[in-house]
Amino acid sequence: MHTPHAATATHCPYCALQCGMNLRPAPDGAGAAVEERTEFPVNRGALCGKGRTAPAVLSSRVRLTEPLVRTRAGRLEPATWEEALDAVAAGLARTRDAHGADAVGVFGGGGLTNEKAYALGKFARIALRTSQIDYNGRFCMSSAAAAHQRAFGLDRGLPFPLEDIPRTGCVVLVGSNPAETMPPALRYFTELKANGGTLIVVDPRRTRTAEQADLHLAPRPGTDLALALGLLHLVVAEGRTDEAFIAERTTGWEEARAAAMAHWPELVERITGVPVPKLREAVSLFCAPSSAMVLTARGPEQQSKGTDTVGAWINLCLATGRAGRPHSGYGCLTGQGNGQGGREHGQKADQLPGYRKLTDPAARAHVASVWGVDPDALPGPGRSAYELLDALGTDVRALLLMGSNPVVSAPRAAHVEDRIRSLDFLAVADVVLSETAALADVVLPVTQWAEETGTTTNLEGRVLLRRRALAPPPGVRSDLEVLHGLAARLGVEKGFPTAAEEVFEELRRASAGGPADYSGISYARIEAEQGVFWPCPEGSEGQPRLFLDRFATEDGRARFAPVSHRDAAELPDADYPILLTTGRVVAQYQSGAQTRRVDELNAAAPGPFVELHPRLAARLGAVEGTPLAVTSRRGRAVAPARITDAIRADTVFMPFHWPGEGRANTLTNPALDPTSRMPEFKVCAVRVEPLG
Ligand code: SF4
Repeated sequence: MHTPHAATATHCPYCALQCGMNLRPAPDGAGAAVEERTEFPVNRGALCGKGRTAPAVLSSRVRLTEPLVRTRAGRLEPATWEEALDAVAAGLARTRDAHGADAVGVFGGGGLTNEKAYALGKFARIALRTSQIDYNGRFCMSSAAAAHQRAFGLDRGLPFPLEDIPRTGCVVLVGSNPAETMPPALRYFTELKANGGTLIVVDPRRTRTAEQADLHLAPRPGTDLALALGLLHLVVAEGRTDEAFIAERTTGWEEARAAAMAHWPELVERITGVPVPKLREAVSLFCAPSSAMVLTARGPEQQSKGTDTVGAWINLCLATGRAGRPHSGYGCLTGQGNGQGGREHGQKADQLPGYRKLTDPAARAHVASVWGVDPDALPGPGRSAYELLDALGTDVRALLLMGSNPVVSAPRAAHVEDRIRSLDFLAVADVVLSETAALADVVLPVTQWAEETGTTTNLEGRVLLRRRALAPPPGVRSDLEVLHGLAARLGVEKGFPTAAEEVFEELRRASAGGPADYSGISYARIEAEQGVFWPCPEGSEGQPRLFLDRFATEDGRARFAPVSHRDAAELPDADYPILLTTGRVVAQYQSGAQTRRVDELNAAAPGPFVELHPRLAARLGAVEGTPLAVTSRRGRAVAPARITDAIRADTVFMPFHWPGEGRANTLTNPALDPTSRMPEFKVCAVRVEPLG
């Protein structure tokens, strides 16, 4: 029985590690305290500063506790929930009636629980009847998801649990910096090394993660694809391929092999800047042990060729027989809290619950039967996230946004902000007045992680239960209550329950038989088993390890991708001679909407900066702290210089967590990957000038 101030076992609201924690409500009802939860195997009690301070946002002075509606005078003023929901339903319906269903858009988030992601997709498709829904996870790991699907027939970020990492012989971390993004995960790599395994880090910066590596390769941003091809070339040339594995468990090797052989090491050195001896050393470390892994994150994925870049690293795993075997394989370290589950339940432009394809007639029929609608009434695929944001104010004239802050996090952010400002109507559900919420016609204050129950799916594909630990303040409602209220106002009285477990029960049925099958998972099982891995059909065990017998393709074989190097969409030239890459710092999370409101985190990471090499700084006449104007073809950002020899001299780095003058995404390039529709956050050309 739950006593008033008893601790509740739950999970951190932030990244995809979904660390377990106990949360104890304060006796006076103001906030809660985080306590260790050592029995949860993923983090065994360890938390980073973001997790430790997460309760601060629950009791923050700046959280929203009443709806806001924009007046005729242009100000956001408090309103009742009835007034606010009436205004949102009227705004969406007015646009639909005047311009058609697809003139209304919905934008979700990779932090929303599975239940919310499911309900949001259903709301878009049967209450609004719009095809125009996508979410910010498109900006996160969509390239890895597409490459996973192409190679293995199934996308689960890690096809093995994290606990397998210390048991492998070598890990190649590509464009991943867990020391900043998910520090409790570092222990897996420390244990790997303690067990005699080796760690290779591929990153243009010598990050805190790279400092722990046995070998650090620092390619020019945007050239990871060529790097992987160069390594595969050497694997072939040195006779290190696993011919039996290739013959028995793969298809497409000849084309992939031919493409790799066109990337001889000296050419790859010229493209990437990584010396040939280091390429050889990497191949030697990777191929020496009997097992190895490649783990990618945003570095190779957030590129206009992200799918092929990840595909090239998968090719390396397949050619060496390091996939579909114990303690071996390719995996993606997903970023957002529910980055995995968020892409499985229907808030993606092209997908239905259970990770089903929206264009598949059988999938449409199944989901339509669960929803009690005619399959022909379901809209088709819509625009991807950036394309949807780019269409705001023209083809898409009203938007409902949940769990995202694209004014800070979208590429070419000044343009996206202009597009949002040009909408006929914008409604935002959020916990604080984010930079995007501040532009809304109606702002709906919603409950936070600790005030509601729901499931998330962590980067391992482990479905977890975030339990309600304390009551929300008066005046806020859950996202599920918001969708229930809006659907009723739009004439859909049934099908949008407000209890998360009821939504989950329907999600189970909707996902049954699909690639991400949750039908055997229940809240009770999650509680009893410290999470359950999908796929988990009714009556089955969850599956922590995939592909050991066969891959999820029709013939059971993994597919090589015949990929070749191509340049980033933008290369340095006389006007923009320097490369910009963007990323994260440990004390902030995503657009910073929550973490920028936590004093301790702000003290640790108070604002943006431009990281640059001493040689570049000397050339520019900049010293530590000099304000630098960084200009790309899309705009200008200003932030102080942070000088370090941990970055290449041809590249500057900016974290993207802040709005305003230092907004890094003002600069980034929305050039899209043709398969995943991922924008090229990780590389563009800029000019850097000291100010004053
Ligand atoms: Fe939360 Fe991620 Fe930090 Fe764990 S590593 S405490 S999940 S932000």
